[in-house]
Amino acid sequence: MSHKFDPFNASTPIAFYHFPFIFILLFPRCGIWLRRAPLRSGSSLRSSTLYFCLYTFVFYLKNRYMNRSSRIGIALLSCILFSLSAEAQYIAPSLKTFTRQDTLRGSITPERIWWDLTYYHLDISVNPEDSTIYGTNTVTYRVVGPATRMQIDLQEPLILTKVAQNDEPLKFKREGNVYWIEITEAQEPGKTYSVVLTYGGKPKISSRPPWEGGIVWKNDSKGLPFVASACQGDGASLWWPCKDHMYDEPDSMLISVNVPENLMDVSNGRLRSVVKQKNKTKTYNWFVSNPINNYGVNINIGDYAHFSEIYNGEKGPLDCDYYVMKENLEKAKIQFKQAPMMLAAFEHWFGPYPFYEDGYKLVEAPYLGMEHQSSVTYGNGFKNGYRGIDLSSSGWGLKFDFIIIHESGHEWFANSITDEDIADMWVHESFINYSENLYVEYYFGKEAGSEYVLGTRKNIRNDRPITGIYDVNFGGSGDMYYKGGNMLHTLRQIIDDDEKWRSILRGLNKDFYHQVVKGSQIENYISEKTGMNLKPFFDQYLRDVRIPVFEYFVKGNDLTFRWNNCVPGFNMPLKISVSGKEIAIKPKAGFTTIKLDTESADIKVDPGYYVSTLNLTGK
Ligand SMILES: [Zn+2]
Repeated sequence: MSHKFDPFNASTPIAFYHFPFIFILLFPRCGIWLRRAPLRSGSSLRSSTLYFCLYTFVFYLKNRYMNRSSRIGIALLSCILFSLSAEAQYIAPSLKTFTRQDTLRGSITPERIWWDLTYYHLDISVNPEDSTIYGTNTVTYRVVGPATRMQIDLQEPLILTKVAQNDEPLKFKREGNVYWIEITEAQEPGKTYSVVLTYGGKPKISSRPPWEGGIVWKNDSKGLPFVASACQGDGASLWWPCKDHMYDEPDSMLISVNVPENLMDVSNGRLRSVVKQKNKTKTYNWFVSNPINNYGVNINIGDYAHFSEIYNGEKGPLDCDYYVMKENLEKAKIQFKQAPMMLAAFEHWFGPYPFYEDGYKLVEAPYLGMEHQSSVTYGNGFKNGYRGIDLSSSGWGLKFDFIIIHESGHEWFANSITDEDIADMWVHESFINYSENLYVEYYFGKEAGSEYVLGTRKNIRNDRPITGIYDVNFGGSGDMYYKGGNMLHTLRQIIDDDEKWRSILRGLNKDFYHQVVKGSQIENYISEKTGMNLKPFFDQYLRDVRIPVFEYFVKGNDLTFRWNNCVPGFNMPLKISVSGKEIAIKPKAGFTTIKLDTESADIKVDPGYYVSTLNLTGK
C-alpha cells in the first residue's frame, strides 16, 4: 500500500513545518541578496527569527488544541502568519535598533569634530602570500576646536599597534572598531599636527565584492596574485586606519603600496614614482592632489598591461590611463573606446570631468566594479550591458558598457559631490542611475533615453524610503537607483525646459564642486534654481513609499481631477493629453474642475511622470 504524504496529518514530522524557516534562519541574507538592497544582516536575521517564532507558535497551537476537523483552520492561520512575516521582512529595517558602534561609525562625534583632515600618507605593504597588510597611516590635521581624545577607526580583525605624535608614543584603547587616542601635546587651534598610526594583520576578505566590503585575494589566469580592495558602505577602516566618516576628506593623499616585484599596484591619482626595494619588492607611490572620500581610496595589485590616450575635454587635455590583465589587452582596446564617449556625454550634461589634475583611469579588478576616484575599477567582462544584461529591457541597455558608464559617472556625483551621510546616498545613486539615460540620449536621442529610464521602472520596489537613517551609517532602499532615476526624470518633465535642466545639472557640479553635502542642500538648490517649492515633491519620492495617484473623471466638457495617495501639500504640475492634445494642469489634494474644448475627451498622463492614474468612473 502506498503511503500518501499529508502535510496536515498529526504524525508529519516537525521538521516538515520548520524546514522553510530553518532555511531562512540559516541563510538570512538570501532574501536580501536577491533584492540587492543595502541592508545589514542584523535586520534580516531578526525578521527570520520572527518567522521562526511565529511558526513555532503555530505548531504549538496545532499540537495543543487541534482536532482533525480544525486542521484546515491551522493551515489558514499558517498562511496568514506567513504573509505577515513576509511583510515583516519589509518593515524590519524600520524596527532595526542601532548599537553604540553604529553611532560611533555614523556620526560626527566630539572626538572627530575638533580636527580637520588635511593630508593622509598611507604607506603599506600588501602581502598576497599570507593575505596580510602591514604599514602606517600618517594623519595630518588642523585643529578647529577644543581638543579632546581622538577617534580613529580600524575594523577587526586588524590591529593598531602603535600611535605616535612627534615621535612620542601615545596611549590608546580599543572599543570595537574604534580606537580612542589620548593626545598629550597641546593642540593649538589653527595649527597643523600629525599622528602616525602603525597597524596590520589579515583584513576581512570580501566574499561578495563590491556589495560586501573587504579585500579580494584572487589569482589571474597565470596563477599570479590579483588583489583589490572594495569597501563602500562598510568603510575604509576595513583595511586602513582613518577618520571613517564621509563628512571630512583630506585635501590630498599619498598612497604608497609595497608589492612583490613581479606585480604592480594601481591606486588613485597619478603615479609619482616606483621604488625598487632590496627584498624583491617594489613600492608604488600614487599621489591624489584633490580631496578624496574614504571609500574611494583603493589598491589594485596584479600583473597589469597598460595603455593610454589623451582626451581633449572642456578643461583641456585629460590623461586617460587603462590597466588590464595582459590577456585582455586587445578586448580592452575596443571596449574602453567607450571611456572617451562617456567623458564627452557627461561633460555635456554635468560639466568638466572633476579631476583633471589626477587624470582618469579605468582599472581591471577581480570583481564587478566600483567608482574609486580617478581609478574606476572594472570587471564587467568587456561586454555591454550589466554583465551582458539590459537592466531596462528596452534594448538601449545593451548599447553601452554599464560599468564604464555608471561607475565613471560617479566621478561627478559621489567623488566630486559627496554625501555627508550614507542615508543621503541617493545623491550618488539617483543621479548616476539617471545619468545612464542621459548617456543614451546623448548618443541615440531623447526618445531612446526616455525608453531606457521608463524601462527601469520594473525594478522599483517601493519597499521603504530612498533616504536611510542618519548618524548610524544606514542607507535607504535600493530604490535610490531606479526610483531615484525616475524621480529625476519626472523632475525634468516638471521643469519642461531641457536647457534649464542641463544648466541645473551643470550648476550642481560647479557650485558643489569637490564638496561634501547633505541631501537637503541638493533639494534646496534645485528648488531655488527652478523657482518652485519642491519640498513636497522630494518628501513624496525620497521619504515616502507611495506612488502618487492622479484621480480624474470626465463629464461632458468638464475634467475633474486631484492628487491622492500622497504627502500633504503634494501639488506636482502634470502634463496630460486631452484627446491627443497636450495640456499642462496643476492638480492638488482637493478636486479641481476645468473646461475642455472637446466632449468626453480621452485623457492620458504623460508617461515621463512616475505616477499612477485612476479614472474614477472606471473607464
Ligand atoms: Zn552607483
